[in-house]
Amino acid sequence: MQDVFSGSFTQQEPIPDEAIAAAVAVMRHGRLHRYNTVAGETAEAALLEEEFAATVGAKYCLAVASGGYALGCALRAVGVKAGDRVLTNAFTLAPVPGAIASLGAVPVFVEVTEALTIDLEDLAAKVTTGGPRVLLLSHMRGHLCDMDRLMEICNGAGVVVVEDCAHTMGAAWRGVPSGRHGAVGCYSTQTYKHMNSGEGGLLVSDDAEVMARAVILSGSYMLYGRHKAAPPPEMFERVKYETPNISGRMDNLRAAILRPQLRRLAHQCAAWNARYACVEDGLRATPGLNVIARPEAETYVGSSIQFLLPDWAAADVQAVIARCLARGVELKWFGAEEPVAFTSRYDSWRYVEAPRLPRTDRVLAALLDMRLPLTFSLADCALIARIIRAEVSAVWQARVA
Ligand SMILES: *Cc1c(COP(=O)(O)O)cnc(C)c1O
Repeated sequence: MQDVFSGSFTQQEPIPDEAIAAAVAVMRHGRLHRYNTVAGETAEAALLEEEFAATVGAKYCLAVASGGYALGCALRAVGVKAGDRVLTNAFTLAPVPGAIASLGAVPVFVEVTEALTIDLEDLAAKVTTGGPRVLLLSHMRGHLCDMDRLMEICNGAGVVVVEDCAHTMGAAWRGVPSGRHGAVGCYSTQTYKHMNSGEGGLLVSDDAEVMARAVILSGSYMLYGRHKAAPPPEMFERVKYETPNISGRMDNLRAAILRPQLRRLAHQCAAWNARYACVEDGLRATPGLNVIARPEAETYVGSSIQFLLPDWAAADVQAVIARCLARGVELKWFGAEEPVAFTSRYDSWRYVEAPRLPRTDRVLAALLDMRLPLTFSLADCALIARIIRAEVSAVWQARVA
C-alpha cells in the first residue's frame, strides 16, 4: 500500500477570532470607507498603516486594494511614464509585468539564476547608460538575491528600485526587512500570501514626495490629512494638483481583519519555516533533484517550496508530476508550454516583445513548485516529501536504466 496525501494545497487557515470580531465591529458601525470617520476616530486603515510601517521600520505606509495595485501605484509614484522601459525579473507572477503594462510602460526581462533570484550579471548589463531607469524587483517565491550587491548596481546606475514583496512579508536580508532596500516596498494581502484579507496591498517608503503621490493616486481625494503614517501636509500641497486619482483604496473591513494578523505574523512565519524545513530535509540528497540553496544572509518565509530537476527531459518531469498527483501531491511546473492557473512564464505574456532568455528557460524547464499552507501539519509535510522523493527516484531510475 502506497501512502496518499489527502490535504488541500489551497486551503489556508481560518481568519482568527479576534480579526472576525474586529470585522463585525466595523460592519456594526457601518463606516467601511476609510475616510468615513467620526470625531476623534482613527480609521482601521490608518491604524493598519501605522502598525505596518512600525513593523518594517518605514516612515510611511499606504494600504491599497491589491498587491498588483500597489505595484502600479508605486511605479506611477516614482515617475514611470507611458513608453518607459522598466526592468523586471523574467521569473515572476503575471501581475508584475501587468503592473508595468498598466502604465503603458514596457517590461524588460532580466534572467533568473538557479537560486531563483534575479541574475545580477544580466542586470548589470541591462542598467547601462540610456537603459531603463526603474527596476521592479520581484522576490518571487520568497527568494532574496544579494540585496547589497543589487542596490550597489542600481544606485551606481541611477536606477530606482521598487520591490515586489508579495512572497517576502516577514523576510529580511542581513536583518533589513524585505521591502526596505528600494525606494518603495509593495506587499500583497491576497488570500495566498502571508496575511489574508481576500484582496489587499500595502506600500511602504521613506520618500515623502513618492508617498504623497501614492496616497493621492490611491484615491485620497483631499482627505490625506486623515492618514497617520504619511508625509506632512506641505508635501501634499506640492503634488496634489498634478497627481491623478486612480482609486484603489483599502477599506476598513479588510484593515480590521489584517491588524490582528499582523500581530501574529512572526509566529506564522516560524510555522511556515518549520514546514519548509521538514519538506526540504525530506528532499535533500534525492538523486537527480536539487533543493534551492538559501544564503546565510537571507531570513526567508517558507510559505512555498521549490526544487529543480535540472536538464531532465520534459516527459520525465511530467511523469513525476503525474505520479505525485496520483498520490495527492500537487506540483506546479514552470516548464509547461501553456499557462495554468497562477503559474505562467515570461513567454506567455505575449503583449511584451521579449527575446529568449536561455538561462531562464533552462531554470524554468527544471522548476517545480509547491505551496505549504499552514493547514498542513509537520507529519503532512514529512509524508509529502516522502511521496515526492519516491516518485522522483522511480522516474530517475527508469531514466538512467
Ligand atoms: C500575488 C502576487 C502579487 C500581487 O498580487 P495580487 O493578487 O494583486 O495581490 C505580485 N507579485 C507576486 C510575485 C505575487 O505572487
